[in-house]
Amino acid sequence: MRLKDRVALITGGARGIGRSISLAFAKEGADIVVWDVNLEEAEKTCKDIEALGRKAMAAQVDVTDYAKVEEAVNKILDKLGKVDILVNNAGITKDNLLLRMSQAEWDAVLNVNLKGTFNCIRAVSRPMIKQRSGRIISIASIIGIIGNPGQANYAASKAGIIALTKTAAKELSSRNINANAVAPGFIQTAMTDKLPEELKQKMLANIPLNKFGTADDVAAVCLFLASEDSSYVTGQTIVVDGGMVMA
Ligand code: NDP
Repeated sequence: MRLKDRVALITGGARGIGRSISLAFAKEGADIVVWDVNLEEAEKTCKDIEALGRKAMAAQVDVTDYAKVEEAVNKILDKLGKVDILVNNAGITKDNLLLRMSQAEWDAVLNVNLKGTFNCIRAVSRPMIKQRSGRIISIASIIGIIGNPGQANYAASKAGIIALTKTAAKELSSRNINANAVAPGFIQTAMTDKLPEELKQKMLANIPLNKFGTADDVAAVCLFLASEDSSYVTGQTIVVDGGMVMA
């Protein structure tokens, strides 16, 4: 019970990595708030959390909309009294080569991945500062460290998350708030299922552990960053990629 009675907010928690994080935190005793654009799927995740004996709250929140984000944080404070942990997990891809990338593709990815992360950090930081404790975990990507052809927008957004995390860590550390990022490699979810088989095999050849990661592999590292086990860790990016990128 490493997160007993904590309140954790997971963005994009309806499916994929966010859903695994929600369930992993609930198993360790946390009450969970799942935000997603897909309310129906978010409610399904909440039912599974309740089956574990924890409170769960689903809300349709698009993280790009600051007014909605702030309103939804206030609702959590009304109903559950606090926000102990924020996991910025909502993210999208819209791949294209630089020369072909449209303004709309660039803006959409930067808006969800980077501005959405900023919006959520900004909205929870006031209550976290008041309670003098908090954990902020943001899901970046190894692509934000090494870049990737066809993903200028995604790579820039994820590199931005890493820099934003370091800044949040420096600004908020005096109030006992830790901010860290997790950079997954190739994780089997709906986001990667759509990639061509040939590309997947090429990637596999570059993974020293010789297998793709699972959403649970990422959730386990998020659990460490949410728990007391990591109380002296802040401003870091932990890579979860089977050894693809080594510093
Ligand atoms: P999925 O697409 O499976 O899940 C992402 C979830 O976020 C979906 O439920 C999606 O809803 C939701 N979402 C999308 N846009 C918004 C928004 N504006 N506001 C709120 N929720 C939103 O992705 P993964 O689980 O694979 O990825 C989760 C995170 O991990 C992302 O940040 C991704 O970039 C990162 N990551 C993933 C890797 C992988 O290999 N899978 C590797 C590295 C990083 P809907 O789909 O209904 O729109």
